[in-house]
Amino acid sequence: MRYLVLGDVHANLEALEAVLGDCGEYDAALCLGDLIDYGPNPNECVERTASLSHLTCLVGNHDQAAFGHVSLDAFNSQARAAAVWTGSMLSAASRTFLETLHSTAATSEYLLAHASPLEPIWEYLEFEWQATLNFAAFEQPLCFVGHTHVPKVFAQTAAGEHVECFLPRDGVDIDLSDGMRRIVNPGSVGQPRDGDPRASYLIWDTALGTISFHRVAYPFAITQGKILRAGLPGALAYRLSCGR
Ligand code: ZN
Repeated sequence: MRYLVLGDVHANLEALEAVLGDCGEYDAALCLGDLIDYGPNPNECVERTASLSHLTCLVGNHDQAAFGHVSLDAFNSQARAAAVWTGSMLSAASRTFLETLHSTAATSEYLLAHASPLEPIWEYLEFEWQATLNFAAFEQPLCFVGHTHVPKVFAQTAAGEHVECFLPRDGVDIDLSDGMRRIVNPGSVGQPRDGDPRASYLIWDTALGTISFHRVAYPFAITQGKILRAGLPGALAYRLSCGR
């Protein structure tokens, strides 16, 4: 199986189309949530994601915020303004699609969680000590998470005594044949925050036993123009050029 793993699209249609144009053939798509909010094309991104073949899709905190399932008190003023705008733009079809989604999904091979296994909607999984607690919360060899918008790999030794982490760059391949368990973040399609403005995703190839990280440039000036014309906060446009 060749899986396309992506998340945090954040209503950025140009970035999503660039990823789908770059990723090649795949057998199934795993989407880690936050399809909407921040960006100018929420309905188009929901529709495009929903059309991906053999899709498993999670709900994220921003999806829930836009249809009123979480309080906006936890958001800063820009995020709150964007959530209110997105909620007002959301079509009935988009709302129906998002409302059917769950915050985790699991098979015997993998767990998916928008944020973390312990707190699927809210935890920013950034440090080894957090990963250590989270490895104890699931049994599969592999877990994919989103939410931080930073590509990252946590690996735990087979005996569970040690967890290490690193930040993968574009083109890095991970060999899964070493018996380590992993929590892997593919980074964000629509609002990267690791200083690289290119859209981020990964390919998990079960036949090869590898995960490969990819970045793809997209015309973010178009997205920025749409954000400003929609009256969304200018900072949400600016951050797309610096990837922060
Ligand atoms: Zn997000």
